[in-house]
Amino acid sequence: MLLNDTILDSMVQRNDRVIIKNFTEAGIKILGADFAFAWWKFSDDNKYKLAYKSPTTPYQPFYPRKGASHYTALHTKKVFFDTNVKKQKYGKSDISSYMKSFIIIPITHGEYLYGTITICYKNQHQFTEEELSLSETIGNSTAQAITVHRLIKRELERNKRELLLKETEALLSQEKSKTEFITNAAHELRTPLAIIKGNIDLATLAKDRNQKSSKAALSAIDREVKHLSGILSDLIMIISPTKQLKSKIEYEKLNLKKLVSYTVERCSVLARKKHISLVAKSIPNITISGSRVHLEKLFINLIANSILYGNARGKTTISAKQSKQNVLIEVSDNGIGIPKSDLSRIFERFYRIDKSHNSGESGTGLGLYIVKWIAEAHGGTVQAKSIEGKGSTFTVTLPIDHGA
Ligand code: ADP
Repeated sequence: MLLNDTILDSMVQRNDRVIIKNFTEAGIKILGADFAFAWWKFSDDNKYKLAYKSPTTPYQPFYPRKGASHYTALHTKKVFFDTNVKKQKYGKSDISSYMKSFIIIPITHGEYLYGTITICYKNQHQFTEEELSLSETIGNSTAQAITVHRLIKRELERNKRELLLKETEALLSQEKSKTEFITNAAHELRTPLAIIKGNIDLATLAKDRNQKSSKAALSAIDREVKHLSGILSDLIMIISPTKQLKSKIEYEKLNLKKLVSYTVERCSVLARKKHISLVAKSIPNITISGSRVHLEKLFINLIANSILYGNARGKTTISAKQSKQNVLIEVSDNGIGIPKSDLSRIFERFYRIDKSHNSGESGTGLGLYIVKWIAEAHGGTVQAKSIEGKGSTFTVTLPIDHGA
């Protein structure tokens, strides 16, 4: 019983020495001894430390010497006992004046030698078979407890190291994506700024020469300023993290049908330019809860893309399906489509398929990132399916507001 408690106890200990101490104290009680001490092998080159001596130990145990009974016990891995200690001078002391009997219990496990526990009696003590076998059990249990404890410790340290490594990697990749973001943003801003600067120079020159041809330059500046402010508002939107937006969103009850037809109307001017037929069909008359500004932005981005990357005289269809919890809104076109290899990346920040594919359309690569980000901030999702040369379908899932 006492031994069982000590074994259980040792499982939660923080070091080998406390384990050895606990088993030594249990050994004194189990074997009805007067005092005890224990040696602990703390390095691979056979160096020993006194791991413990009980408060009743009347002398300072000596460092175990080669050839002494200690070594016999450790190297035979068997208990070693003496029932009638002869006069022995160790330094100044005569050991036989402190004890008449002792038993040295090796703490060994397979190949491992951890140390010894020495249980001592002031008077002569004859060891019974039962006591000898109990002593062996004490030694084995101590060794097993230390082995298990070391394995657990090693495992914990490994887990800790792995965790640290993962955290460092995550931090590094965060840092990398921040740098990427700043580089991309700077790049996006530089082109319109260069065009503006060029046109200002042109307009100034025209003015100096009293020419009236600054009109074209001014309208180019106007176009680029609009483009710039578009980029800036996109950048501001994506800089605040999704969580922050979630807490900022002022949820209002929105009628999906009205929301879609409003965005379709706003995009119809773009569609007309390319003679694309823009149709919204079977949009259910349901209520969703969300931010009007953001959800309008989501649909406008998808519809504007379908027109931008749609074929002239093509078709864009917006339709919706309703399930119990969600509504699925599809924006489909029969335009240029998206190569399979790019499909998994189009929602990334600043990702654009190369210019030859886009026939030079000048976007920022932020549109779909914003779509995904808005959908997720509303508890929804967005997915894309596409066949190159045939067309694309973007599916947005949003939760339905049943409280309406
Ligand atoms: P942008 O349109 O500003 O480049 P987006 O994030 O909106 O950025 O889109 C990323 C890329 O995905 C685009 O550059 C384009 O190549 C491709 N793409 C998006 N929508 C469509 C679509 N409906 N059809 C074909 N390609 C598309």
